[in-house]
Amino acid sequence: MKNISIIGGGPAGLGVAFYSDKNKYSYELFEANEIFGGNCITYKHNEFYFDSGAHRLHDKDTQTTNLFKSLLNKNLKLINIPSQIYRDGKFIDFPISPLNLIKYFGLIKCIREGIKIIFSKNNDGNSFKSLVESKYGKEISKLFLLEYSEKLWGEKAENLSKNIAGKRLKGLNIYTFIIEVFLGKKKKTKHLDGSFLYPKFGIGTLFSALANQLNQENIHKESKVTKIKHHENYIKEIQINGTEIKKIHNLVSSMPLNKMLKILHPSPPNEILNLADKIKFRNVILVVFFLSKDRINKNGSMYFPSKKYPFTRVYEPKNRSKSMSPNNNTSLAVEIPCFYNEEYWNMEEQHLKKSISNYLIDIGLFKKSEIIGSTVKKIHNAYPVLSLNYQENITQINKYLSNFKNLHLTGRNSLFTYSHIHDQMISARKILNDILKDHKK
Ligand SMILES: Cc1cc2nc3c(=O)[nH]c(=O)nc-3n(C[C@H](O)[C@H](O)[C@H](O)COP(=O)(O)OP(=O)(O)OC[C@H]3O[C@@H](n4cnc5c(N)ncnc54)[C@H](O)[C@@H]3O)c2cc1C
Repeated sequence: MKNISIIGGGPAGLGVAFYSDKNKYSYELFEANEIFGGNCITYKHNEFYFDSGAHRLHDKDTQTTNLFKSLLNKNLKLINIPSQIYRDGKFIDFPISPLNLIKYFGLIKCIREGIKIIFSKNNDGNSFKSLVESKYGKEISKLFLLEYSEKLWGEKAENLSKNIAGKRLKGLNIYTFIIEVFLGKKKKTKHLDGSFLYPKFGIGTLFSALANQLNQENIHKESKVTKIKHHENYIKEIQINGTEIKKIHNLVSSMPLNKMLKILHPSPPNEILNLADKIKFRNVILVVFFLSKDRINKNGSMYFPSKKYPFTRVYEPKNRSKSMSPNNNTSLAVEIPCFYNEEYWNMEEQHLKKSISNYLIDIGLFKKSEIIGSTVKKIHNAYPVLSLNYQENITQINKYLSNFKNLHLTGRNSLFTYSHIHDQMISARKILNDILKDHKK
């Protein structure tokens, strides 16, 4: 029996395995897929590389940054690139800068909108809609934030929690706009920081490097956890691929929370299973075009808030690292958020590629004659849908799960938080600390 058994070999699970290894705790990790990295992987298509979505490593946690710097050395670079929003035939800076808003609306309308916002009641309610409308007014919110979020999360903005904003809107309000208008580039507010760390051959190399640090005998691919058996408030055993049984000392799960509840044996009470049914995840379809041109533009990401387009974000991997495309070529990856029952998820691949390329050609990002190849990838459980009262449901589920004294949850879909790579590493360290403390008791 190992000290720590881990479900999932994405960033969260690999992080726990890494810190277990460092703390000389015996561990064993089970990953359902044939590769490690979860939703943070890099695909290779001929000489092109592209990630499972527009990933970047934010320099937000020194220990995480230092760890990946030490693993990748010169192959992890600080990148500084702009991003833009495309709306009504125009590209404007993202996050929205005041000068670009003036270009978009014209000075008079901008002043009128600004005054409306300053004198509006600060109705900072519970939903994402009320949060952004109180900060930016109805017009700016609708054009740049509400439609976009509804496409991304698949819910009406009034039914979305304000937690979907994450830290993106921090420091971005009408007052910071005004400061920028008057002080211009001398005092750019923090939200305009477009710098991040990025590996030479894509985000997935962070996690292949991390997996390489581990004892390979203890990390298993194609090992899906199919049952979690418990008795008297302890997890006792897990079942792998429907057959093999492993005894458990401590179990760390990073698998989606609803799926984990459903493989508990004996089953949780019906009210907990009903809450599990309310949990939703948004998937993402990635359509990637390989192009016979050197560059499209300089953007890190391009955002498409209008519902006219089925995609939310488009990115050119070469702008993150030159090595992502061969010389004289580039590629463009398009993210289409989807539930399983939606039209695009079920669309035949050729039809999907044609439909998406037509939009991009119309916008002017490339010509039909420049497409030298294309591919489609599907990312399951990309975003936990943080609808208005999700926290109450999650709190009740967590209260039930806290009965199990040797169970720890980590990761985006198990903790059901809009979290990022560095958050997974912080969570891994915390779990190890908790287990160490318990051990000393
Ligand atoms: C489009 C997109 C863009 C993103 N951009 C960024 C970004 O720029 N910066 C950033 O920091 N983060 C970004 N993220 C977030 C980042 O990808 C997540 O924080 C991270 O992937 C979460 O790691 P995880 O291990 O919790 O979950 P996952 O990556 O989902 O990994 C979970 C793993 O568990 C495995 N698993 C599930 N069930 C079982 C089972 N029963 N048995 C065994 N294994 C199982 C899965 O196969 C998977 O490998 C982005 C995410 C997406 C989708």
